[in-house]
Amino acid sequence: MQFEDRTERCLRLAKEEHYCPHCKQKLSCCEAPPFHIGDGLGWGTDVLFICLNDECSLFAGSWEQFDAQYGHSASCRYVLCPGNTEGESMMVGGKDAFKNSELNIEDLQRQNQRYAKEKVATAQLDTCIAEGNLEPVLYLLLDEHADLAIRKRACELMLELKNPACVDPLRNHTFRNTDLEQLVNLAIIELLKAVHQRECPYCAEIIKAQAKLCKHCGKEL
Ligand SMILES: [Zn+2]
Ligand SMILES: [Zn+2]
Repeated sequence: MQFEDRTERCLRLAKEEHYCPHCKQKLSCCEAPPFHIGDGLGWGTDVLFICLNDECSLFAGSWEQFDAQYGHSASCRYVLCPGNTEGESMMVGGKDAFKNSELNIEDLQRQNQRYAKEKVATAQLDTCIAEGNLEPVLYLLLDEHADLAIRKRACELMLELKNPACVDPLRNHTFRNTDLEQLVNLAIIELLKAVHQRECPYCAEIIKAQAKLCKHCGKEL
């Protein structure tokens, strides 16, 4: 839930347009640093609008001031918190600070789409047995970003569906969670047993449980 809220919020903010009062350039939408140097607390927001223009008068002109005042190399960037009309100066140690924290709209959109698909597939699990629909089950099992509890439920349903079409894609998939991988491996063996099939120990193709010779590799079993 939190994931969806954050992604949608970031997407909305990344589309807003704000301009630097010092250089008139468009502010970049960046991920907020965990601490606010001024008060040691957080910024109270996960996103900040920052002027990343190296020619900006605030940024270019503050080096000397910091050097004279504190004797170390630092400068300021103009920063605006979402929802505020006036920004402030944020101290930075170098010109690359925050240049890697710009929000990537395409990434966010991809995350959002993936999450929407996960939601649809999860809802379809309720009717997949009645409809004999393997698709949502397979989709969730193969989506490494999907919720683990939901993927475990999909694994149980996969066994109930008894459709050997799921075996190849699952065998070709690399599971990051070893718990789930084990559950899937056991479910595949159970599923094949239920439909009187098994995997050839030599070539891994699916064959009849009673076969004496593998019809794929010809090996004796
Ligand atoms: Zn500026
Ligand atoms: Zn074989």
